[in-house]
Amino acid sequence: MAEFDTVIRGGLVATASDIMLADVGIQGGVVTAVAKNLPAGRNEIDAQGKYVMPGGVDSHCHIEQPSSISGKMNADTFLTGTRSAACGGTTSVICFSPQRVGWKLADSTADYHERAKKAAIDYTFHLIVNDPNDDVMETLPSLIADGHRSIKIFMTYDSNRVTDDGVLKLMALARENEAFMVLHAEHHDMIKWQTERLLAAGLTDAKYHAWSKPGVVEREAVHRVISMSELLDFPCQIFHVTCAEAAEEIHRAQQRGVKIFGETCAQYLTLTADDMDRANGEGAKYVCSPSPRTPADIEALWGYLKTGVLGMVSSDHAPTNFAVASEHSSDLKLPDGPGTPFPKIPNGLPGLETRLPLLFNEGVTGGRIDISQFVALSSTNPAKLFGLYPKKGTIAPGSDADIAIWDPTKQVTIRQADLHHAIDYTPYEGWQVTGWPVTTLSRGKVVADGGDFVGEAGHGQFLARAPYDYIKPRGVFPSPFDPFAGQS
Ligand SMILES: [Zn+2]
Repeated sequence: MAEFDTVIRGGLVATASDIMLADVGIQGGVVTAVAKNLPAGRNEIDAQGKYVMPGGVDSHCHIEQPSSISGKMNADTFLTGTRSAACGGTTSVICFSPQRVGWKLADSTADYHERAKKAAIDYTFHLIVNDPNDDVMETLPSLIADGHRSIKIFMTYDSNRVTDDGVLKLMALARENEAFMVLHAEHHDMIKWQTERLLAAGLTDAKYHAWSKPGVVEREAVHRVISMSELLDFPCQIFHVTCAEAAEEIHRAQQRGVKIFGETCAQYLTLTADDMDRANGEGAKYVCSPSPRTPADIEALWGYLKTGVLGMVSSDHAPTNFAVASEHSSDLKLPDGPGTPFPKIPNGLPGLETRLPLLFNEGVTGGRIDISQFVALSSTNPAKLFGLYPKKGTIAPGSDADIAIWDPTKQVTIRQADLHHAIDYTPYEGWQVTGWPVTTLSRGKVVADGGDFVGEAGHGQFLARAPYDYIKPRGVFPSPFDPFAGQS
């Protein structure tokens, strides 16, 4: 009897630290051998001339979630979202379980577990808290103990922002319960004030979204998060860093020893504010929050990725149909037609499937990063930061056989018609990229092959996360007082 269920043969196995010509043996959904000349498996996959990489870990994706602007459910379900992720070489997603208005937190979380049973790849959740009321504060410790080891906070949006006193309260609770926190950092009142001035001046087109929230509102909030995190000695991550001035604050904090993490997203490496300046309402297709910036910011972000100041590139997948409502979502990018003023355009772009090909094309093909850096930014670093490593994020004996086989020479023109999400456009229509994942395996099972989804609903499993060292506080406070002493 064969020793392996599957052998991936003759590829260049690439991890965040090494590249080697080797076969990968898989048994029971787990990698059991990485070596040359492995014996035959029951299934053989020829990977000659290809890279064999850990499947992507996308630590920031909104699936089956209500829009912060419209309150309506977005377009992908856990099946269509994870299906498109798999076809783009991603094998784990960290989605959100939002605190829903009028619901108890435990009930919202149970509802998301039910919804996610359709997932085709493995998943876990950040718990979104928008009102740290007594029920939420009492419920969070048991939800964290159940494996929901990260809390997401918005510092802006009327519908779900948490003010600074709430942020401090939640940071303290997270620290005491060995949980992590991710934050959308923008200065709410500055955006609100600027938006009112823009609208009063008649500047309502999509492109003014960028004017309503220039880099300074992001930089201010990033600095505020860092300061609060420093007071509490609480490591956390800033989501979607878009510009040089915000990344610079993270760099400065890291240089003085603060344990602060930053991610950026594929759209901030590929799009600029000019993309929102298109006729006939087309600019709305590119509206996401924070706004895309400038070519100079793109180059600066690459610099911060290369030096590790920013540790990962996620999708911030947030799908809203442009022109045609769909079965699961009545929301549209232009609810009032082409003249819809920018504050009414739901934020967000679809990106689960295109995240890795864009990062590969701009990064590896474009000569900015090497293959190991690509693996680190897209898979290993998020797996480590969110407590999934080494089960996810690497190819080594004992790791889940979550693998993407990449053809680095495959040229693809990105077309909506070829993608697997459930919305009616891609912001990257017509983009030509070199490098594409040709086969994706989730726990040893082929889930995407040759551009087709071949997995199934319900294959995905919830990834409960135990306490882990990567996010441990340093034990350094800015005064002699330890606010947590004796509190355990
Ligand atoms: Zn997001």
